[in-house]
Amino acid sequence: MQIQSKLPNVGTTIFTVMSGLASELNAVNLGQGFPDYNMNEELISLVNEAMQKGFNQYVPMQGYMPLRESIAEKISFLYSANVNAQTQITITPGGTYAIYTALTTVLQPGDEVIVFEPAYDSYIPNIEVNGAVPVLIDLKFPDYSIDWEKVKQKITARTRMIMLNSPHNPTGAVLRESDINELRKIVKDTNIIIVSDEVYEHLIFDNIPHQSILRYPDLMERSFVCFSFGKVYHCTGWKLGYCVTSPELMVEFRKVHQFNCFSCNSPAQVGLASFLKNKESYLSLPAFMQKKRDYFQELMKETKFTPLPSYGSYFQIYKYDQISDESDKDFAIRITKEYGVATIPVSAFYQSGADNKAVRFCFAKKEETLKLAVERLMKIK
Ligand code: PMP
Ligand code: GLN
Repeated sequence: MQIQSKLPNVGTTIFTVMSGLASELNAVNLGQGFPDYNMNEELISLVNEAMQKGFNQYVPMQGYMPLRESIAEKISFLYSANVNAQTQITITPGGTYAIYTALTTVLQPGDEVIVFEPAYDSYIPNIEVNGAVPVLIDLKFPDYSIDWEKVKQKITARTRMIMLNSPHNPTGAVLRESDINELRKIVKDTNIIIVSDEVYEHLIFDNIPHQSILRYPDLMERSFVCFSFGKVYHCTGWKLGYCVTSPELMVEFRKVHQFNCFSCNSPAQVGLASFLKNKESYLSLPAFMQKKRDYFQELMKETKFTPLPSYGSYFQIYKYDQISDESDKDFAIRITKEYGVATIPVSAFYQSGADNKAVRFCFAKKEETLKLAVERLMKIK
């Protein structure tokens, strides 16, 4: 049987490729972004308890209401925003799904979507599968900030959406208040929708405040803001997240969501509803992850890699131009094979395959894992 591919240019994701190679070669995997340490014991107990108490059937399509209430409380505490748990929050099976659903809710064939590169690898296929057109803008190298003048130049009558991601994967760059002010000026009096990928919300360092779109009511009315419990609570395999938007946009979001997955894992939602009530559950996260970044950065000084700064997420980019002039893909594969450390080549986050001779490391790992990886990387001459 023959079908016409909706995504003719898409292969297997680089994360799957590099994790496959790492496991085949028994390499230390600092490639795909996931922790190798266990998650919070209390949260595990709360979910177990929920299952034992019989929370094993469907929760409502919008998500378990006490969890939505805990999220609304957290949003009010952190961002002074008044979000209605009933009409503005929907629990989703992960952040990726929340982003896909937001795009599918809005996009019509031919719509243009502004995407900054390097970009998380699901965005462009999500746009294209909806018949819309990605309009690519490079983040400024090497600080990966947004050139707002370029954004103004790329806006046309067909611009339907701007996609943001802060803290940013793969670069660890974060949006500043000045970025938000530029964005506000650009979208004011337009029909442009914003999708803000904030899955690394709590993984932000050096006391920098997270510039959530939720802080800005004028932006919130035109935004889908997407989050992931997996990313911040060290349980990526749970695939649970949520989307926050205006009541009007949420009506449309739920029309798509209800016929795609209907509702998500119940016991995890019940457990998280209580867990989130303790503010320490999220207030402790920036310092927890910063410690890992600092530990990794310190170790990496003994290697020939050159760091670019990471202010958030659980990633840091390092240049390897002092070591080799190979393409970043060849380099990443070779060091996995020869030295037993897997990374992600940054060109995978560019449609053009732009190669800045840089690879991404994930530092959300046990100290012993980071130490072992760097001992191996120190051998590279
Ligand atoms: N956005 C970014 C930038 C990510 O790095 C990830 C992690 N895979 C996601 C979205 C998706 O998160 P989830 O695993 O909850 O789908
Ligand atoms: N977000 C993770 C990363 O960037 C990977 C998740 C996935 O494999 N899709 O490494």
